Amino acid sequence: MNTWTTRAVTAATASAAALALAGCGGSDDAAGGSGAGLTVVAGFYPLEWAAQRVGGDRLDVSSLTPPGAEAHDLELAPQDVAAVAEADLLVYLEGFQPALDEVATTEAAATAWDAGQAADLTLTAEEHGHEGETAEEHAEHAGEEPAGDGEALDPHFWLDPVRLASVGDALAERLAEADPDGAAGYEQNAAALRADLEALDAEIQAGLAGCAVDTLVTGHEAFGYLADRYGLEVVGISGLSPSQEPDPAQLAEITALVRERGVTTVYTETLVDPAVAETVATEAGVRTAVLDPVEGLTDESAGSDYLEVMRANLATLQEGQSCS
Ligand SMILES: [Zn+2]
Repeated sequence: MNTWTTRAVTAATASAAALALAGCGGSDDAAGGSGAGLTVVAGFYPLEWAAQRVGGDRLDVSSLTPPGAEAHDLELAPQDVAAVAEADLLVYLEGFQPALDEVATTEAAATAWDAGQAADLTLTAEEHGHEGETAEEHAEHAGEEPAGDGEALDPHFWLDPVRLASVGDALAERLAEADPDGAAGYEQNAAALRADLEALDAEIQAGLAGCAVDTLVTGHEAFGYLADRYGLEVVGISGLSPSQEPDPAQLAEITALVRERGVTTVYTETLVDPAVAETVATEAGVRTAVLDPVEGLTDESAGSDYLEVMRANLATLQEGQSCS
C-alpha cells in the first residue's frame, strides 16, 4: 500500500516535469527560431524613427511614448517596464525622460543604449531662460561651465539633422554587435538615413540663410541645436522641459525682448499647451505659429515622419523669421 502510493506520486511528478520541459523547449524555439527579429524599444519618436530606418525589416521597433503624449513627462506602466526588461535593445536618451533613466539602469543594464553619447550633447541652458544674452555670450559660458550649477544639458539633439545622422551611424554599430548577420544591412541603412538627413540639412541651411529676424522665441527650449546649426538664437519661454513655467517677471522680460528685436512671430508647439506663448504674443502684439519639436507624432502633425515634419518646420520658420 505504502509502496503503491509512493510510486504513483513519483509518476505524477515525472510527467509534470516532462510537461514543464516540453513547454520550456517550445518557447525557446519560438524566441530563437528566426535568427534576427530583434525587439527594440525606443524612448520616444525620433529614436523610434531612427531605429526603424537603420533596422529595416530585421527589427521590431516600438516606442514607449504613446502618440500625442508629452515625451518629457513619460510615465511607465508595469507592461512598459516589462517590455524594457525583455527587449534586445533599449534606445533611450539619458537625461530626457527621468522615468526611463531609472528603468534603463534597473531593468536593462546590459541592453540600454544612450543615444546622447553619439549625439555629442554640447549645449546647456539655464533652468529658466537666459533673456538678453547673445548667442556668443551663452556659448562662452556654456563651454566653460559643466552642466549642473543652475545649468542643464540640452537633450533636444534630433532637431539638428546632422546630429541625428551620427546617432544613426552609431546605432548601426550597436545593432551589428547584437546581430552580426545584419551588420552590412544596418550599415547600408544608416548611410541611406545619413543621405536623407544631410539633404534636409542642406535645405534648411539654404532656407534660413537670409532671415531678417535671428531671434527664435519658442514655447520651451527645444530648438537650441537647430538654432546653433543654422545661426539663430533661441529664447525659450519655458525651460528645457515644458513643465518649467516662467514667472511673471520672466514673461515681461521676454515680451520686452520680442519688441526690441523686431520679432514678428512667437512659436507655440504641438503637444504643449500654447497659453504661455500666446500670452507673450498678445502682450507684444505679434503673431503665433506652430513649430513642432518632433518629440512625438500625431494625426495632426504636419507630416507623416521626421523628415516631413522638419520640412514643415522649415516653411514655418521661413515665414516667421522673414527669410528671403
Ligand atoms: Zn522638449
